[in-house]
Amino acid sequence: MPPTGHWQQLLADALSDPRELCSLLALDPDLVLPAIQAARGFALRVPRGYVARMRPGDPKDPLLLQVLPVGAELVAVDGYLTDPVGDMDSRAGSGLLQKYAGRALLVTTGACAVHCRYCFRRHFPYGQESALHGGWQPALAQLRAAPDIHEVILSGGDPWSLSDRRLRQLTDGLQELPQLRRLRIHTRYPVVLPERVDAGLLAWLGELKLQIVIVIHANHANEIDASVREACARLAGTGATLLNQSVLLAQINDDVDTLAQLSEALFAAKVLPYYLHMLDKVRGAAHFDIDTKRALALHQELAARLPGYLVPRLVREVAGANAKTPVGPNLPGTLD
Ligand SMILES: *Cc1c(COP(=O)(O)O)cnc(C)c1O
Ligand code: SF4
Repeated sequence: MPPTGHWQQLLADALSDPRELCSLLALDPDLVLPAIQAARGFALRVPRGYVARMRPGDPKDPLLLQVLPVGAELVAVDGYLTDPVGDMDSRAGSGLLQKYAGRALLVTTGACAVHCRYCFRRHFPYGQESALHGGWQPALAQLRAAPDIHEVILSGGDPWSLSDRRLRQLTDGLQELPQLRRLRIHTRYPVVLPERVDAGLLAWLGELKLQIVIVIHANHANEIDASVREACARLAGTGATLLNQSVLLAQINDDVDTLAQLSEALFAAKVLPYYLHMLDKVRGAAHFDIDTKRALALHQELAARLPGYLVPRLVREVAGANAKTPVGPNLPGTLD
């Protein structure tokens, strides 16, 4: 197991210079200038351990494509917005977002271990919205007044960017709420910086009385190497339920073999596929988008190949809807 605290060094040592990324991977130097330009809007950030899983010399590597800033991000495309999922309309204040029955999502921090180029939060004003700013108290006070909330979802950014001490402060407060049954954690750390799952984090998880659901975020089987499987095994050992959500991304995972391999790799790591998201139409990410008809066809092929429990639900986020909207034949989410 990685020594406690080591992950913070690895995080500080993450790559942020497009020149260095391209040279480490022996990529065409022509990729550097557009990367520098696109990184001005949303910085390059990628842990070195994740870069080590990329194929050198391959500009189409499915992990590289998730993190390398490209010129296409700077091209404005109609219909791609800064707040595609309507988060700004559903703010309950204090970092808490309640859009769905029984669940409240807490924006715990703006920081992530990796910057995913397709991210719908790339324009989100975290500075104003992160619950941490109030020392958690406004969010906790609001939850105290919400007896119908049974599940709190820690999101961000990435909640595991917070120190174990901050996490414990928050969960000490949450565990005083009698209505809470579950704590859900949405995090990409087990995939992009598995060293985060160290003794300190496991001790914190082990102390919690709430049932724990951890939703990791992998988009491609190449992301899941031995270090990721080990981190997931440590998490599963705490009794937490492990799920995965992916985004359907052009050139990265938009074929049925790749999606099937991802489901198999997840299950081998004790993780069940939960959601396959249609891209949120965020400005700067149009080049990742997949047409709904093709997405549906891919999903149906996947369902014909795999046991039901390895087929993630294909969904899209519709601003104002009361749940993720399923994409399927004859379902409203199918209409663009
Ligand atoms: C996605 C999301 C949830 C969780 O939805 P599930 O279908 O329960 O996974 C909860 N709140 C918000 C604001 C969300 O965006
Ligand atoms: S880790 Fe999640 S929140 Fe952070 S940039 Fe990637 S997709 Fe966005």
